[in-house]
Amino acid sequence: MMNFLPFALPDIGEDEINEVVDSLRSCWLTTGPKCKQFEQDFAGFLGDDLKAVAVSSATAGLHLALEAIGVGAGDEVITTPYTFTATAEVIRYLGAHPVFVDIDPQTFNIDPENIERAITSRTKAIIPVHFAGLACAMNPIITVAKKYGLKIIEDAAHSFPTSYKEKMIGTLDTDAVVFSFYATKTITAGEGGMILTRNQDIAKRCRAMRLHGINRDVFDRYTSAKPAWYYEVIAPGYKYNLTDLAASIGIHQLKKAWLFQKRRQEMARIYDQELSDLPLKLPPKPSAGDIHSWHLYVLRLNEGISDRDSFIQQMAKKGIGCSVHFIPLHIQPYWAEMYNLRPEDFPKAYATYLSAVSLPIYTKMSEEDQYRVIKSVREVLGCS
Ligand SMILES: *Cc1c(COP(=O)(O)O)cnc(C)c1O
Repeated sequence: MMNFLPFALPDIGEDEINEVVDSLRSCWLTTGPKCKQFEQDFAGFLGDDLKAVAVSSATAGLHLALEAIGVGAGDEVITTPYTFTATAEVIRYLGAHPVFVDIDPQTFNIDPENIERAITSRTKAIIPVHFAGLACAMNPIITVAKKYGLKIIEDAAHSFPTSYKEKMIGTLDTDAVVFSFYATKTITAGEGGMILTRNQDIAKRCRAMRLHGINRDVFDRYTSAKPAWYYEVIAPGYKYNLTDLAASIGIHQLKKAWLFQKRRQEMARIYDQELSDLPLKLPPKPSAGDIHSWHLYVLRLNEGISDRDSFIQQMAKKGIGCSVHFIPLHIQPYWAEMYNLRPEDFPKAYATYLSAVSLPIYTKMSEEDQYRVIKSVREVLGCS
């Protein structure tokens, strides 16, 4: 039996391993100097005037960012159904409601044309998701947000590094941006996330709320007369801090972010080149001069050519792990029942889901592995 090529794998080197060992030997296991360094390095990567707040996951980061901008019970937050449930569940954590808006089937991303119609007097914010690592049409989203006084929190779990009109995601004119370091993402810390913002108040609130609502300002230089054991609780916060063990991995992954991106981009180019004559739709490309992180490489099978589920089954028989991104939220039992949603309510997201297949794309995959995937796709589609 041929060895199985998994759908995704992290790419961990000796530097990450040595840094974790160093943390273990130092006895700084939880949040400490490595977290601080990871935050500084991450802000430095994206540049200029940004504050970075390390957290235990992107889910935690999205929750904290929404809390910091004041989203509360009964509020509405506009987002896409074509995402992972984390994007929307954090809205429910705060007693608010997601309002789903259908996607642009060309890009898989939220269609800005549909946003304005979904705005009500209770709308507080928009969460765009840069699907697969391709930036959303941010200028029209920012324009509509400004027109109605809405906040924008970007779900950038897929998009490190990604750019929009030659500006890095993380540096645009929005309120906060949240990246993920989950094991399958473009860079990993095992688990982890980072909130980026230019807004001092948001950064300060997220810092306090990630660790039990403890205000660290009592330690600043103006009040250093306070004893070291003293702290103040300003709110019932959360336990969302990142460990130094995770930050140790993240610090070294960050250094390889461009190397990883170039490798993924090259893999996407090879897939595009070798699959272009098949009865399927290749993934959308970034605009000229822009960066796609290529977290995912998502094909859409032409209607009537091959049933998506049996395609994935036949690929698995050939020892290739494929996946589906995403099962849209409006067909998941909780979201469908909670908001009385039917598949046809978001027809573009639903149709896209039915034809979508994610092929393996990760830096540990060899060129030989990739050609094995290509050969298998061609065989399954009867075009070898
Ligand atoms: C992975 C993912 C998240 C959650 O990231 P975690 O770090 O695992 O919490 C959020 N949104 C999207 C779109 C994701 O793919």
